[in-house]
Amino acid sequence: MNKNFFTTIFFSFLLTAILAQNPNRIKEPDIMKNPVRREIIMPTIPGYEIIKGDFHTHTVFSDGLVWPTIRVEEAYYDGLDAIALTEHIEYLPFRELVKGDHNTAYTIARPRADQMNILLVQAAEITRAMPPGHIVALFVEDANKLETDEYMDALVEARRQGAFLFWAHPGWVAQQPDTTLWWDVHTQLLEQDLLHGVEVFNWDDWYPVSMQWAKEKNLTWFANSDVHPVVSHSFNTRDFMRPMNLVFAQDRSLEALKEALFEQRSVAFFLDNLAGPEHLLLELFNHSVEIGRPFTTDRNGNWRVQLRNPTDLTFRLQNLESGNGATRSIVLHPRSSVIITCPASENGQTTLQYKATNLHTGMFEHPTITIIVE
Ligand code: ZN
Repeated sequence: MNKNFFTTIFFSFLLTAILAQNPNRIKEPDIMKNPVRREIIMPTIPGYEIIKGDFHTHTVFSDGLVWPTIRVEEAYYDGLDAIALTEHIEYLPFRELVKGDHNTAYTIARPRADQMNILLVQAAEITRAMPPGHIVALFVEDANKLETDEYMDALVEARRQGAFLFWAHPGWVAQQPDTTLWWDVHTQLLEQDLLHGVEVFNWDDWYPVSMQWAKEKNLTWFANSDVHPVVSHSFNTRDFMRPMNLVFAQDRSLEALKEALFEQRSVAFFLDNLAGPEHLLLELFNHSVEIGRPFTTDRNGNWRVQLRNPTDLTFRLQNLESGNGATRSIVLHPRSSVIITCPASENGQTTLQYKATNLHTGMFEHPTITIIVE
């Protein structure tokens, strides 16, 4: 009886202790968002590390609406590896409220970027009337020296610092309302090593004509957000990833990133489109898509074969040889497989040719994909 009595008392105390609520302060960690990063699955390409980067963004240190560290955190959550804060040199609407100079955004963001393992590119946007329009300088050392009367002096100074220069939003309606034009000035910049890349996508616009320039003039292709507000308030990140560049770098470092951009080893990635040099697009396809073995024949004697895409890239394929019995149209969605039909071959191998309609190698130009079934 005594034993039962003491046991009851003991458990009553224990229960009271467990249920006791601190009347002063109760923590609710579940209301906080977990720091979950979206992991973007890219193909493994021998010899390269694919760096996913957005190289055109703004903060309150020019006309953006967020603090520099927020851009770093967004990049982390969105699965990026690299970003650039590209504050306007000539347009600072919050200058009276936000003190600092043209390097301050970078200086503030840098420690956060190091903590979160984000490559932060020091940058600035030379913001001039057309021509030349807006030119983003990546990998600058001192953006304050880009504040000059003549735009040419700013570009030359950026280049003296080792910068990579690209033309931002060439088709921006405020500067080129009717036609997206390449000006003589841009030819001069190109000839003087003062222009290395061009945006083919910016914010929610893309410019087929600038894809043709990128191709013909050997410029590096870019798809950037040019985001001013919060990324998640602006982009439909439920259905798509924010615009980004897939840079084929030798390793995950700023030096390798810079080298790859100067060597045009970059693909612009927006919605489910991939735009860039043909050999890079073919590398992406060939290392993303696994072609199975033909496993059966249907009643017409055709093979069926599985195409497997474990990456976050999409491939939209259109049969180039209509009437050969192969599946006419294939959409390989991210992280999925499809089974296609193709003519069986007596020698054990069938070669199929498809046009990849969401891959762009120029203005309305798409590469041909070869699928060998064996
Ligand atoms: Zn901008």
